[in-house]
Parts: sequence; structure tokens; C-alpha cells
Amino acid sequence: MRNAPFPSPIARPFTRRALLRRFGALALAAAGTSGMALLTGCNGPELAERLTGQADAKPYGSSTFAFDTYCTFTVYGDSAAPAKLAKACARYDKLFNLYDDASDIARINAAEGASVAVDAATADLVSRALGFCERADGLFDITIGAVSTLWDFDAHTRPTDEQIAAALPHVGWRGVAVDMDASTVTLADPLAKLDLGAIAKGYVADRLCDLLEQETDATGAAISLGGNIAYFGEKPGGGTWDTGIRDPNEPGGSKTVATAHVTGGSLVTSGLYERTFEQDGVTYWHILDPRTGMPVETDVASDTVACPSSTEADALSTTLFVAGGAAGAEIVDTYSDIAAYFILQDGSIAKSSRWDELTRA
Ligand code: ADP
Ligand code: MG
Repeated sequence: MRNAPFPSPIARPFTRRALLRRFGALALAAAGTSGMALLTGCNGPELAERLTGQADAKPYGSSTFAFDTYCTFTVYGDSAAPAKLAKACARYDKLFNLYDDASDIARINAAEGASVAVDAATADLVSRALGFCERADGLFDITIGAVSTLWDFDAHTRPTDEQIAAALPHVGWRGVAVDMDASTVTLADPLAKLDLGAIAKGYVADRLCDLLEQETDATGAAISLGGNIAYFGEKPGGGTWDTGIRDPNEPGGSKTVATAHVTGGSLVTSGLYERTFEQDGVTYWHILDPRTGMPVETDVASDTVACPSSTEADALSTTLFVAGGAAGAEIVDTYSDIAAYFILQDGSIAKSSRWDELTRA
């Protein structure tokens, strides 16, 4: 591992739970207030609440804590919608939370290879995630759980090399089977463990947009699941949705290095914003290389993916972080409707070919 490439404040950020304790009331009180552009990259509540308002249309807002992060909703046209979104988040959190023994994912992981009956949403998420594993050619793997559960980026726990070596053979997405008709998930390796952390928030954001479409009168909405952003419908007045990209070199701050202007779709960032810690002069972070079980060696400090689908944006944002800037931009350029913005560890910026075109709507 390299030495810490950042000034020391990034190495010991607030944990998300500590942020909730500190700012939870503020977050709830501030929900729905108008302000500046939404920010992507893990947000504390004081940042996540700076949602864009319009003088001529009142946004309805709320915030909640789910997926180990702050989730904020700003909805136009339906005052009841934010509460429905928060309720849906709680439901998905219960299904997908790896660390909740009663969740579908934890039950799959504890089943020692037996088929597990799961909610249709879980089967759908795992099935879609496997598609991204296949495309990512080893960089993105939802069975990273065998290794990721050994690390604790809040408690600053680094597993031993022996522990990582013992767990690594149990990382392999090809051993995951989903039966969509029976709604079951089966792990061929009894010691394999699913971790959907790299894709679940994007999947949920897409489902929340479906909910707005099908069950509310919302005309437009901005959804932020810890800086994982999805836009629904139209912004009142027909303007663009504006998203600031936070500087990973100032993880606690609100400094933005760029702003994306889109008329819809999703913006998702993976980066070194919060889940890093330093031990014996080495910085460790939460995006792991499935080939080594260690925090991935990469030149990327953060990458932001603009994409119609939030599920895809989330899976890709993690994949590009592992791929590195140059290879990541090449991956993104194979899609005509996806773009990425990279902030590299040396402080420089790189963009995929269509970034400017797709984020200056
Ligand atoms: P965040 O969770 O901070 O929004 P990401 O979407 O990039 O960021 O997901 C990182 C999470 O994904 C990790 O906390 C871990 O649960 C999981 N993960 C880490 N490395 C990988 C990987 N190479 N492939 C798939 N999932 C990963
Ligand atoms: Mg991701």
C-alpha cells in the first residue's frame, strides 16, 4: 500500500453514525429548504440538505437514515410523497443490510449453500448485480463480502494477511444462482458472502423513481441516498438539475470542483470521502480489489458517473474506481449515454469523452 496521499483530516472523518448523532435533528429540521445544487459524493446532512428550490414551486422534503447514510428527498407536486420514499427506504434497508441478521442478504450468507427464499426485490437486485459482475471482468464482484466483512472502516480494523488469504478463495460471483420464478438465491460456496454495498443504493434510487411514477402525483424530484443522486420528472420551470461534485481531498467540506447539469437520470460517485483510515502510515479504503482482498491500488480519488439508470451508475462508479482513470474512461466510452468525471489522486481531473456533452443539458 501507498502512504497516505491526503492531508491528515481525511484519514479520520466522522463516521456516518457519528454524523447522525451530531446532525440528525438538524437534518430533519432542514429538510426541504432551498439552497444550492445537490452534491454527489458521500454527504453529511449539512451538505445533503442544500437542495435546489424554485420560487414558484414549493418543494416537499424529508430526510431519513438508511443504507448507513443520509437519504434526502425533495419532491414537487405531492406533499405525501417524501414520507412514502422514506418508508420504502426502510423496507429496502431491512432487505439488503448485510449486517442485519434478519435481512435477505444476511440470511443468504448464513445459509451455508442452501437455497434461500427472498423478497422479489432481493432476487431482482442480485440478478441485475450479477450482470454487472460479468461485464466488469473481475473488478466488481458482489461476493466481495467474504473479504469486506473482515474490514471495519468505522472501527479502523485491518484484517491480517492470513485472514484475507483464507477468505479470498470464497470471492467469486459465478457461484451465485438466482431463481427469479421461485425468488430464491443460492450460493454454491457455503463460505461465500454477498455484499451489495456497491450497487444497492443505485438500485433503490431507481425503485424510488418507479414509486414516484406509480404511486404519487409528483411532477419532479431529487433523491439523494448519501450523495447517490437520482432525478425524477421535471424541475419546475424546466431548468436543469444541478449537481456539485465534491472534492475528495476535502471530504468533510462542501467545496465542489465541478457541476453537472442534467435534465434527468442519475449521478453517482465512488471515492475516498469517508471510509478511509490510516494505520502505521498506510491509508486503507473501502473499495477492495476482488483479486487481492486489499483496498484497490488506483490512481482515482473519486469518480462520478452520469447515467440514465442509477443502478448502472452505482455499479459502474465502483468498477471505474477499481479500473483506474484511463481504463475507467475507456469502459464508459463504450456506452453512448454514460459519462464519467474523475478526480485523480494527484489532484488532476480526467473526463470520459462525453462528459461535457451529457452534463451540460
Ligand atoms: P459507497 O458505498 O461509499 O457509496 P460504492 O458504491 O463504491 O461506495 O461501494 C463501495 C462498497 O461496495 C464497499 O463498502 C463494499 O461494501 C463494496 N465493495 C467494495 N469493493 C467492491 C468491489 N470491488 N466490487 C463490488 N463491491 C465492492
Ligand atoms: Mg457503487
